[in-house]
Amino acid sequence: MTISVLDQVAKEKGLAVLGTGDFTHPGYFKELEEELEPLGNGLFVRPEGAGTKFILSAEISNIFSQRGKTYRVHTLVLAPDLGTVREINRVLSRRGNIYADGRPIFGFSVKELARLIREIDSRCLVIPAHAWTPWFSIFGAASGFDSLEEAFEEELEFIYAIETGLSSDPEMNWRLSALDSITLVSNSDAHSPAKIGREANAFEGEPSYEAISRAIREKSLLFTVEFYPEEGKYHYDGHRSCGVVFSPQETKAHKGLCPVCGQPLTIGVMHRVEELADRPPGFRPEGVPGSIHLVPLLEIIAEAEGVRPTAARVAKIYKQLITLGGSEFDILLRLSYQTLGEFVPERILEGIRRVREGRISVRPGYDGLYGEVRIFSEAPGPESSAQSGTSSPQLSLF
Ligand SMILES: [Zn+2]
Ligand SMILES: [Zn+2]
Repeated sequence: MTISVLDQVAKEKGLAVLGTGDFTHPGYFKELEEELEPLGNGLFVRPEGAGTKFILSAEISNIFSQRGKTYRVHTLVLAPDLGTVREINRVLSRRGNIYADGRPIFGFSVKELARLIREIDSRCLVIPAHAWTPWFSIFGAASGFDSLEEAFEEELEFIYAIETGLSSDPEMNWRLSALDSITLVSNSDAHSPAKIGREANAFEGEPSYEAISRAIREKSLLFTVEFYPEEGKYHYDGHRSCGVVFSPQETKAHKGLCPVCGQPLTIGVMHRVEELADRPPGFRPEGVPGSIHLVPLLEIIAEAEGVRPTAARVAKIYKQLITLGGSEFDILLRLSYQTLGEFVPERILEGIRRVREGRISVRPGYDGLYGEVRIFSEAPGPESSAQSGTSSPQLSLF
């Protein structure tokens, strides 16, 4: 995940702009300063590289007590220039150890983090990360708050967005009227190159820090690219070690306890959304950006070939297709079936067609275990009730 690798992989995925990640880490920040050239619009490129534009980003972990309860919240920060990052790092280094981890941990509240960043540079954006996951998020069952007001109080007016995370999608978040004024962003939260771009945000016009930040503040994203939320690690409730996976209703019927070990179940994202929602499933607020659900091309190839996504054959076919098609997003979203038919093997093309039309089935993820997508057959285990099997109008966005 060095800058040169990020630069190249973002191009293969079809991303115009990529977050650098980890700018709070002094070693990595030094690399950013040495390897990136400012474009003068708040974005950066690697000279003689693949052309990916970078936006300065970091994730911060706050673990803190408030009114007798412990909270653990991850937050994204976007910054407009290197000088601002230098100042953020200087201030944060006095409050904790920024050398220990790419995502440093602090003992003060998220509200204080928001204030501190805003006071350094009000052009920065502070965005609660993967907002619904149980252990480290703003709404998490075991870690978070019941509302953004409760978490940010008077700083709330400077919070413009939350990240829906892999286990939830905009459709789930639309069920909370409390989020109507909040922009829902989708990022890949990648910890390895292959996972870059599994979620993304589409903006209109020439990219610049100002344009991206304005679209987030004004809620004018074009659309987001989504993982099927069932595929995320915390969609349903359950116990991984006990092999128990429950829908929110089943968990309630069991009073939140595991029928195998008797301990409280890990409460997933769907359950928390159900708890805090004040609208029925399927509600769509007026004027919200659309969302497109995708399955990563590596997974489509793997299932078409009947092997694991990590198999060498899958990587080889992936490379060939990207070389011929331009990028992963070109292949998954932009190119017509006729064009794809000229270079994509038939069974993989059928997989792309099914993904585009939403004709797939997903075994929901739970308690840290990713869900499993099946494109050519039914997923084993309990079926989720979400998009799977419905023919979706998602491609009309293009
Ligand atoms: Zn995180
Ligand atoms: Zn158990």
